[in-house]
Amino acid sequence: MGDAIAANVESDLDAVVERCLAVLRQRPSAVLSDIDGTISEIASTPDEATVHRDAHDALVRLMGLIDVVGIVTGRAAEAGEGMVAIPDLLCIGNHGLERRRAGVSWEHPAGVSAVTGIAAALDAIRAGAERAGIVEGIIYENKRLTGTVHYRLAPEPEVARATLLRLAEAASDRHGLRITEGRFIFELRPMVIINKGTAIRDLISEEGLKGVVFMGDDVTDVDGFDTLRAVRDGGDVASLSIGVVASETPRVVYDRSDVRVPGVPAAATLLVRLADRLDEIPRSEGPDGQA
Ligand SMILES: [Mg+2]
Repeated sequence: MGDAIAANVESDLDAVVERCLAVLRQRPSAVLSDIDGTISEIASTPDEATVHRDAHDALVRLMGLIDVVGIVTGRAAEAGEGMVAIPDLLCIGNHGLERRRAGVSWEHPAGVSAVTGIAAALDAIRAGAERAGIVEGIIYENKRLTGTVHYRLAPEPEVARATLLRLAEAASDRHGLRITEGRFIFELRPMVIINKGTAIRDLISEEGLKGVVFMGDDVTDVDGFDTLRAVRDGGDVASLSIGVVASETPRVVYDRSDVRVPGVPAAATLLVRLADRLDEIPRSEGPDGQA
């Protein structure tokens, strides 16, 4: 991590905790988090990733302390739900195209319409890549409403990216899809502009939220950061966006988050301290509401 970037990371986690508490005391309030790279270390393959134990336990506690606790992930909602493994946790998946809570699912019609095209586009990219000799270390992940191509494990990731993107652009044109990029991945999505930002905005209005904290680590989380800033600027909703940063964090995550914390362990510790502090408030207040 360079000095300029390190200087942008909050070294005092307690200061971040205080800022979060100020937001979360505006009820109803929500803590929302991405999974991969935020509460789960990036693994070589998506199947190998696991949620940080402290983050998991803190999210369970937070569910009893604030109004909404949710995951906002690029994974399929069911996959995210299975990974976090907390009963009744809200799970917004496929970047906002679907939701699950307490076993009840909702899918955006535009996502459902794209299911056939996503599968066909992934097949076409794979076939073209194989003809070009780009095979080793490429993972094709069909998440039904979106698809992800992972090239982190390719021998020459940037060479693989160039070929795969060219193929993906052709396939996306043919099947009416659009492409977004992240850390050693790109994704095929329906043409409709649904993203983590629109999903969070919908949740805020449905739940009447007055305070929202959201943590994320990648380009697709920046849509969420932008929504939090917009609702705050609108004057109605207190918010704080937290960039969870590590060596390969895209610049835009630094630029558009409100505060930065250093990696998954710090994000987990932040959640634990939030649960500790929210838990102690009622007990520490006297009959006049004074501490
Ligand atoms: Mg992530």
